Formats: sequence, C-alpha cells, structure tokens
Amino acid sequence: MRYDVIVIGAGMVGTAAAWHLQNNGSKVLLLDRKLPGLETSYGNAGLIQREAVHTHPFPRQITEMVRVLPNQGTDIRYRIPALLRYHQALLQYWKYSTPASVKKIESEWQTLIAHCTSEHQKMIEASNADELITRDGWLQLHRSEETLKKAVETAVIDREKGVEHRVLNLEELKALEPNANFDGFVGAIHWLNSWQVSNPSALVKAYAKNFEEIQGTIVESNVQEIQPENGEEGAGWKVITNKETYYSDHLVIAAGPWSNELIQPLGYNLPLFPMRGYHQHFKVSDKNTIHHSMFDMDKGFVMGPMQQGIRITTGAEMTTMNAPKNFGQLKTVLKLAKKILPLEDAVESEAWAGSRPCMPDMKPVIGPADKHDKLWFAFGHSHQGFTLGPITGRLVEELIHDKPLTVNVEPFNATRFSKK
Ligand SMILES: Cc1cc2nc3c(=O)[nH]c(=O)nc-3n(C[C@H](O)[C@H](O)[C@H](O)COP(=O)(O)OP(=O)(O)OC[C@H]3O[C@@H](n4cnc5c(N)ncnc54)[C@H](O)[C@@H]3O)c2cc1C
Repeated sequence: MRYDVIVIGAGMVGTAAAWHLQNNGSKVLLLDRKLPGLETSYGNAGLIQREAVHTHPFPRQITEMVRVLPNQGTDIRYRIPALLRYHQALLQYWKYSTPASVKKIESEWQTLIAHCTSEHQKMIEASNADELITRDGWLQLHRSEETLKKAVETAVIDREKGVEHRVLNLEELKALEPNANFDGFVGAIHWLNSWQVSNPSALVKAYAKNFEEIQGTIVESNVQEIQPENGEEGAGWKVITNKETYYSDHLVIAAGPWSNELIQPLGYNLPLFPMRGYHQHFKVSDKNTIHHSMFDMDKGFVMGPMQQGIRITTGAEMTTMNAPKNFGQLKTVLKLAKKILPLEDAVESEAWAGSRPCMPDMKPVIGPADKHDKLWFAFGHSHQGFTLGPITGRLVEELIHDKPLTVNVEPFNATRFSKK
C-alpha cells in the first residue's frame, strides 16, 4: 500500500504528527508494533508541563556529584554497563551542562514549551478527551527552606515566560490536600497553568481514534527495515514490517527511545540515550484520595491521581534499554511516599518501567534528516515528550507541507551533533 506519509511510532509524538498531517490533507499510515500509547507515553507522570521552562542538566557541582555517586538516590541512579555503553553521549551531556550552554539551550527549549497547552487543547477538543484533563495545576513539595527559596526566586523570574504559580505554606497545602501528611515539608509551589492527565495512554488513544475518524490508518506491526524506494534517493520510502511492506513519499521516525535502531542502518548515529523510570499504582480509598499530582522536589518522585489508582513515579535510572528491572529505587521511593499517603494495596504485582528518550543537549530532534530526502525525525524529547508531542506534530506537518513554521526548528536539527 502507498501513502503520502508513514509515521513510525504511535506514542504521543508520532500520533500527534500523524494527526496533524492527516488533518492537513496527507494520506497517513501510523505504524507501531503495539496499539497507540503503550510504551513511554503510557507510563509517565501525566503532566502537561507549561512550567517546564528549564531543562535537566548533568550534575556539575562537586556537592551534587558526591550526592549522586553512592547510587542510592531516589531521583537518579545509574548502572555501570549503561555508563560504558553511552559514555560518549554522557560526556557530551556533561559538556552541554555548563551554565552558559544551559542558558542558550533553555531559551530554545522554551520556544516549544510555550505552545504545549494550546497545542494539546486543539487535539483534546477534536478528540473529545476533555474528561481526561484537569486544569488546576500540580504541587511541587519542598523539604528544605533553601530549595524552596531558590525555586520561588526562579518561579518569579519565570512569570515573564508565561509560567503561573503561587507559593503555599503548610496550612494552605493541607487545605488543598487534606489526606496527605506533610510532616518534614516546609511548603510548596503550586504550578497553576500546567495540566494533569488522569490516564496518559488514554489521551494518546483518544488522539489516535480521532486520527482514524478523519481517515488516517493505524497498523499494528513491527518495522524491521526502512529503505529508500527502488534504492533511489528522493524517490520515496519502503517500510518493511513483520506483516507487510508499505510505501510512502515521506517517512517520519517518531519511535521514541528506539529511533536509533531504525535509522542506524541508513548511516545515522545520533547520541540518543535512554533514562528509565518506574511506576506503580495503589488503590484509592477515602484516606488517600488526592486531587493534584505532587512532586517531592528534594527526593525526585511524583504521586499522581490516575484512573488506575495513585501512580507513584520514580526519577531517572541510567540503564540500557533491555536491562532487567531493578526495583531498588522504586522501593526507596515507596517508603517515602507511604509516609505522605496511606498506600496499602498495589494495583499491579510488578511495577512498570519505560525509558525517556534523551539527547545530550537536552533538546529533541525535530526536522529533516541530513543524508536522505523526505526523511524526518521527531524524537528525543526526554522528560517532556508527553507535553511536547502536539507542538512537535504540528512542526512536522508544517515542514513536510513546506509551510511557514510556528517555531524556528533550526535549534532542533539533526545535524547539530555532526557539526561539532
Ligand atoms: C517515569 C516517567 C515519567 C514521565 N513523566 C512525564 C510527564 O509528566 N510529562 C511529560 O511531558 N513527559 C513525561 N515523561 C517523558 C515522556 O513520557 C516521553 O518523553 C514521551 O512519552 C516520549 O514519547 P514518544 O512518542 O517519543 O515515545 P513512545 O511513547 O515510547 O513511543 C514510541 C513508539 O514507537 C514504537 N516503536 C519503536 N520501534 C518500533 C518499530 N521498530 N516498529 C514499530 N513501532 C516501533 C513503540 O512501540 C512506541 O509505541 C516521563 C517519562 C517517564 C519514563
């Protein structure tokens, strides 16, 4: 079968790209080896993060490094095989994390974040998915006066960037979340214009359903190989799956942390690396109901009200894609979480794990491939791919249809690593 565009990957990013393209006149095939929204876009904390105007740099201060080194933290852990495997990307990550470099990166990153809620809103409306969204922000809890003071100072500056907040003392916090025990905390920032999604996978599915309603095609099959059609540059694409072979004029790679596997045979070697996270749900009762997602800033984990239960989401574990699960970080997080809320019955017997697709300069890759015509990249959104899927999808559509761009994509191009 022939399509105008094939999009590989039905996570938040690929689904949004397919939706925008189909909505704007292309005949699109969205391919995934699973149903839409079942990988990284399933297991995240479900926040559409208008407040995320800052990136996550590599720790460079000695005190930070000494803290991370024993590998017992709740926010970040690492495994030696991953450090060896991704050492080049990590070295680049370290280099990009100087204050001057982070300042530039964040100014570029913010051009995407500025569109996150407005772009989701269009897709939410079209997909009738409003019941999955809560628009009264989320809570960033602090255990130390020092970290709270610093965060408040930054939040005040970030008002200029469109981020709305208010500072809460413990009484105000308790009034918002009466079931939580805030012993050990000193206060919080309430991020007011970020949104919560009660089932991230269901939101991707709702967008995918709307894509089908507008005559887009979704096929569940594993892409084994991509090739220029007839072996000829610029002719189009041949996509070989475990079931059928498909053809298209344009091809979009939106396979999240697996994107490199698809493009390496074509001669691309982008420094994409995974950062794993875990989650587990706990049954909701009168005693533990919460209304806002709460992020324990000093310990680095999230507790969120989801349809499946209260979702406890860990920070990052630097490991390889197929390494067996290691529940050490989650266990430590659960001990802390259970002091905040009574969490008695786990919903799943085994916790979920998935990988954030990360780039060393903390920015996604959005734009044309440099070695092939009509090949487009949309991956590497690390900690905020759920937030940034819709604006990325819009940009991919504008690029492929050769329209004026909503955001300058130059800072996100695929060649930025080969230029160094
Ligand atoms: C614990 C955790 C918490 C997070 N919290 C948040 C949050 O609150 N807010 C936020 O914005 N982001 C959050 N993130 C990050 C966010 O989840 C990711 O950035 C985002 O989901 C990436 O989306 P994606 O579409 O690029 O990748 P994915 O959702 O992983 O989709 C990629 C798809 O490609 C498919 N695929 C891969 N290879 C092939 C192949 N060969 N053939 C066919 N299909 C293929 C996969 O099956 C998959 O469905 C979190 C991540 C984690 C791990």
